[in-house]
Amino acid sequence: MTDVTQYDLWIGGEYQPPETGRYFDDLNPLDDSPIAAVAEAGEADVNAAVEAAHTAFSSYRKSLAKERELWLIRAADLLEQRRDQVIETLIDEGGSTIGKANFELGFATGFLRAAAGVARRITGEVIPSDSPGRYSFAIRQPVGVVAGVIPFNVPLIKCVKQSAMALATGNSFVLLTSEEAPLIGHILAEVYAEAGFPAGVYNVLTGYGHKIGDFLTGHPKVKSITFTGSTRVGQHIAELAARQFKPCTLELGGKSPMIVLKDADIDAAVHSAVMGVFLHQGQACMCASRIYVEQSVADEFKQKFAAAAAGLSAGDLWDPSTVIGPIISGRQRDRVRTHLTDAIEKGATVLAGGGEWDGNRCPATVLGDVTDEMTLYREETFGPVTAVYVVESLEQALEQANDTEYGLSASVFTNDLNSALELAHELEAGMVHINAPSLYDEPSVPFGGWGKSGVGREGTEADLEAMTQWKWITIQTPVAGGDGH
Ligand code: NAD
Repeated sequence: MTDVTQYDLWIGGEYQPPETGRYFDDLNPLDDSPIAAVAEAGEADVNAAVEAAHTAFSSYRKSLAKERELWLIRAADLLEQRRDQVIETLIDEGGSTIGKANFELGFATGFLRAAAGVARRITGEVIPSDSPGRYSFAIRQPVGVVAGVIPFNVPLIKCVKQSAMALATGNSFVLLTSEEAPLIGHILAEVYAEAGFPAGVYNVLTGYGHKIGDFLTGHPKVKSITFTGSTRVGQHIAELAARQFKPCTLELGGKSPMIVLKDADIDAAVHSAVMGVFLHQGQACMCASRIYVEQSVADEFKQKFAAAAAGLSAGDLWDPSTVIGPIISGRQRDRVRTHLTDAIEKGATVLAGGGEWDGNRCPATVLGDVTDEMTLYREETFGPVTAVYVVESLEQALEQANDTEYGLSASVFTNDLNSALELAHELEAGMVHINAPSLYDEPSVPFGGWGKSGVGREGTEADLEAMTQWKWITIQTPVAGGDGH
């Protein structure tokens, strides 16, 4: 057993050892050294967490909006006060650069504050009735226990987005963290407890999703599921949930296009591409992994973008100038390597990177001459790799950009408003950003994708819809001269 801190499960407002008695290594992706020993939950632990959440829900559902508002605002402040611990965790277990870690913390605290405002916006409707003397109105009620499952790449953002909205709307929550980045869930558990949330409304399971995930999402006392992760696992969850008519929000993979038209500001496009492709070494769902550039500006774009990619620092993760960190795990590294080898063997041109890895870091890689025979033409690579395609026209760019089963985000660079609006309308994606990277999020937007990028939307207003259920109530009053029916 390695000499590292041991983390138990967070159930019913306290740490509890796993019923399995097993702990797994949480690895630092820089060198795969263990940084923590983390409890491996089994089915009995899942059951205990869901029961704790179910019990807590019976009184939490009656909590006042002003209480939930206050607890969420306090949680934002407390999370900020734990800045050092949060940043260190995101760097050590996630391989984040300090820039990405700071961004994640900033977004998470902002989201907690935005979610606090939702507590007071759970309003209903008064509806004109067809019956004389009948008052008719509809109210929103919480659904009960919500199960959340998160990926490894932005664990804090996803953990906060899912749990804060569940708690704001009066639900209780059971989180299953990613086995590749499990510790953020615990930090949030302590924050929520200190902020005043009652014991049992937020529970954390660590362990392997492929072992206990079905038991959690299929548990009869789990009433709603919010999942972020791969399309493969999302499809599986959707199939199971459908059998129980269980609502689920699925935020899945992407193959997001960026289109650069000939009248675009090329320097701005290059700047955005660097951020939109290489943030967190390309391990982001909204990364621009396909870039379509109009022919007359293609050479200039390729040359400037390749030079910028080649100049990205892969230094100390605590140094603000570092952009490229390690790829999270052997599984992900294999995937990136396989995609790259396949593309290069089949004739892709390497415009930048593509060569030797520095330990677990893949160099920022830009490819040209990618064809639809190559795996990375369609599949998500989830690494610092993108392909530049030269196109003749806006129409061709659009046709190729839409040649995908995914539909998460897209980005368009042009100075022509008509072209920008045409593309914004015609691109088959849940989100389109004009003259900005495809990688962008805010708390109060309908965040999510089309097609295999998911169903449902995250965001304060969208989640308010997803995490409450309607109840229609009528009151019959006596009607003068009538029988009241
Ligand atoms: P993954 O699908 O491999 O794992 C995600 C989570 O699902 C993990 O916690 C895992 O333990 C769990 N899991 C595995 N099997 C399960 C099952 N049967 N039931 C329940 N849970 C199960 O994804 P990943 O590699 O951690 O993350 C990368 C993927 O996430 C990429 O495809 C990326 O695009 C996507 N992603 C999407 C968004 C978005 O908002 N659309 C954001 C971040 C990441």
